[in-house]
Amino acid sequence: MTERSAQIPSGAPARGPRRLIFETGAPESRCVEPPPLDVPELDLKVRLQGRAKIRHEMPMLPHVTEVEIARHYSHLASMNFGVDTGSYPLGSCTMKYNPRIGEDAARYEGFAGLHPYQPIETVQGALELMCRLAEALGEISGLPGVTLQPAAGAHGELTALMCFRAYHLASGIERRRVLVPDSAHGTNPATVAMCGFEAITLPSDADGGVDLAALDEALDDDVAAIMLTNPNTLGLFERNTLAINEAVHSVGALSYCDGANLNAIMGITRPGDTGFDALHINLHKTFGTPHGGGGPGAGPVCVTEALKPFLPGPIPVHLDDGSFGLAEPARSIGRVRSFFGNFGVLVRAYAYIRGLGGEGLREVSEQAVLSANYLKERLRDAYELPYDRTCMHEFVLSGVRQKREGGVRTLDIAKRLLDYGFHPPTIYFPLIVEEALMIEPTETESLEELDRFAKAMLAIAEEVSTDPALLKAAPFTTPVRRVDEVAAARKPDLRFRREG
Ligand SMILES: *Cc1c(COP(=O)(O)O)cnc(C)c1O
Repeated sequence: MTERSAQIPSGAPARGPRRLIFETGAPESRCVEPPPLDVPELDLKVRLQGRAKIRHEMPMLPHVTEVEIARHYSHLASMNFGVDTGSYPLGSCTMKYNPRIGEDAARYEGFAGLHPYQPIETVQGALELMCRLAEALGEISGLPGVTLQPAAGAHGELTALMCFRAYHLASGIERRRVLVPDSAHGTNPATVAMCGFEAITLPSDADGGVDLAALDEALDDDVAAIMLTNPNTLGLFERNTLAINEAVHSVGALSYCDGANLNAIMGITRPGDTGFDALHINLHKTFGTPHGGGGPGAGPVCVTEALKPFLPGPIPVHLDDGSFGLAEPARSIGRVRSFFGNFGVLVRAYAYIRGLGGEGLREVSEQAVLSANYLKERLRDAYELPYDRTCMHEFVLSGVRQKREGGVRTLDIAKRLLDYGFHPPTIYFPLIVEEALMIEPTETESLEELDRFAKAMLAIAEEVSTDPALLKAAPFTTPVRRVDEVAAARKPDLRFRREG
């Protein structure tokens, strides 16, 4: 593949960065004309003299017409890649298609137009929705106490560990350590540290699960909890969940389930039934909220009866007189979020759950697992499969063979996938797999699309032998080519400076 730039005339609309909004338009251009002034005119300079700093120049705002601004944003959108553009098999992130009906529901005037300071009797519908959603999540998780406040999964982790700490302190014991498997998402040890505990890393066994002997050795009465991801980040169901949770409980510790991978198991098994005391759910992953642009999301936490009194308050409740109100749990850790959390995300989740029903949710998980296993089987000969087991909704390959053969790294494979029109999978995570490629196809991709993805991955494996240099220079077709990711993270230059 050659670069296209030579064939493109200089005036042609490019997919790449063209003019900035600040370089577009002319001083007299306007999008809107404000109505004529119908109040007395004030001279701000006179009015604010001595009381505020007054600018002496006009702010540098773009002067553009409506059509220019429409084109500006459409152009920016076309430079981006999203689930609506193509498939996005980013492992652990569950980048599935989010049904539009959730957007319709979240935009109902009765939901979108509410103010959190409104009197309670005027927000009965919103409280009812939250009660019903909490009940549904309690049913799905098998853990009846639910807070909808946390704003994301990581925030849910923190909320749950704070509840755990309050629970232990209430029984008069301070416990300092929390066990985290080495395959865990980085937010797990970060949460442990933020909460003032010490993180103890548990190694995985050859099967990809928690090493039981290491667990036994680590368990004592200083352990407050374990944070287990199930299915774990290798895409594998933790076969020893029951035994692990029993061992953890036997020393008086609690068991936390990182529920980010609920998309593989909902309607099939319930974390509460397998001995977990708490779980967070990423509504934006599993229950129909678009994400990937940084939010907003929601990370409700579900807990056992014993932990209910410690949940953040207030909690929406159905009162005996049939109305809805707010209640404060008896030994609440306090608020973790202003108002009621990210309410729009809660509305989408409720719409998603009601739209699919119990059977539908089960089908989502079954389909997600089937898709992942199908892709795994199609790719297993071309790439190394470090944990060769039936997977859940995602699986992890390794690019070690490609690295050995053509000096091609997983990063190069990911970049090359962009040229084939796919968002790359998650790479270099989990940390315990060298040159990891973590693929989560999700249930919303058709068989035809899965085949297209498999074909692209197989073609790239071919290219590693025939033309490794090509992969190292990819991508060729994107608006921005390869960027210096380290410099972009360490020395971000986000400010536009006007020339001259
Ligand atoms: C996404 C994810 C998290 C963090 O959730 P956020 O909503 O991004 O804060 C935690 N654990 C696992 C396994 C995840 O995939």
